[in-house]
Amino acid sequence: MFVYADNAATTSVSKTALDAMLPYLTENYGNPSSLYSFAQKATEAVAQARATVAACLNAEPREIYFTSGGSEADNQAIISAAKAGARKGKKHLISTKFEHHAVLHTLKKLEKEGYEVTLLDVHEDGVVRLEDVAAAIREDTALVTIMFANNEIGTVQPIKEIGALCREKGIPFHTDAVQAAGHMPIDVKEMNIDMLSISGHKFHAPKGVGVLYAKKNMPLFNLIEGGAQERGRRGGTENVAGIVALAAALKESIDNMEANTAKIIPMRDKLFAELSKIPHSKINGSLEHHVPGTVNMCFEGIEGESLLLMLDMNGICASSGSACTSGSLDPSHVLLSLGLPHEVAHGSLRLSIGEYNTMEEIDHIIEVVPKVVQYLRNMSPVWDELEKGQRPHLI
Ligand SMILES: *Cc1c(COP(=O)(O)O)cnc(C)c1O
Repeated sequence: MFVYADNAATTSVSKTALDAMLPYLTENYGNPSSLYSFAQKATEAVAQARATVAACLNAEPREIYFTSGGSEADNQAIISAAKAGARKGKKHLISTKFEHHAVLHTLKKLEKEGYEVTLLDVHEDGVVRLEDVAAAIREDTALVTIMFANNEIGTVQPIKEIGALCREKGIPFHTDAVQAAGHMPIDVKEMNIDMLSISGHKFHAPKGVGVLYAKKNMPLFNLIEGGAQERGRRGGTENVAGIVALAAALKESIDNMEANTAKIIPMRDKLFAELSKIPHSKINGSLEHHVPGTVNMCFEGIEGESLLLMLDMNGICASSGSACTSGSLDPSHVLLSLGLPHEVAHGSLRLSIGEYNTMEEIDHIIEVVPKVVQYLRNMSPVWDELEKGQRPHLI
């Protein structure tokens, strides 16, 4: 049996998105910047997609900028706010320790350029506290950027409250909503969001297309100079087919959100319930504030990478957390930010399920994971020491 349980890494393109995009790869291949009527079909398709995405987020079409993905949107939002702040002598940026690397590495770069960065703790439950944000705000704070839902553990942050606080203090607020879009309701007005990033391939559109929402009057700095596309804020011929697919997939996800959630939650809960029966295991992140499909657990005495390889041999695609740490022996920065010891964080497993998964697939995972964990523990010198009482169990 083949089971794809890594939907937080990427998703398949839905039939709706594929059908919507195909004509813009074939018969309607015009460049939206061309003046003849043939190209107008492409121009109109991009305009329609912009209106659709805006409606999905309760934004205005002119506040929607298409990008190459979530990473670019994160970079542009943060760099724009940093540069705008610097012009007013404000060079302090606030974020959290468990952001995606698209955010953390952008902040690192700005730090080297003379900005000051405060990274907030996320506590054991993986939730940022409003009072921690309030305490970090200074006279010279130029931006608060806090993710909507975490990509490794699925915890959801108090975005509306953080947004309200930032608005009260007159500080721009950005959120990386890549893991939330299409899975949870997002309303940029109601949630006091000034800038927001989303990525098509996390909700059944193709890879390589995303959106930066920037509230009108938010100053934007160009990462890519070129033509006057995207209201002069991002040069380059539009990825017309990708943009059309993103809008179709986002609308489809939102239209079906209730049904999808109702399908995913019982599968996720069964995974949590059954895999928690494995001794010396731990669920990571609060289940109270959580996206529907993400399951993250640690199993003591094993290496997450070995677990993944053995799951792969059993047809299961999963992750140990961040996909970017291959080649490094460091455990996930997200799990460390929860205060987990290195030894425990090393034994992590992320299963992210979507509406295309079935209960039969969940049953296959539930059958395989305990056996594999046991097999790896039997070979593990660390587990041997734990069992003999030569070192204490941490979970
Ligand atoms: C996937 C992801 C990104 C990056 O999006 P890309 O479109 O792959 O560049 C950024 N942030 C989060 C939280 C993600 O999960």
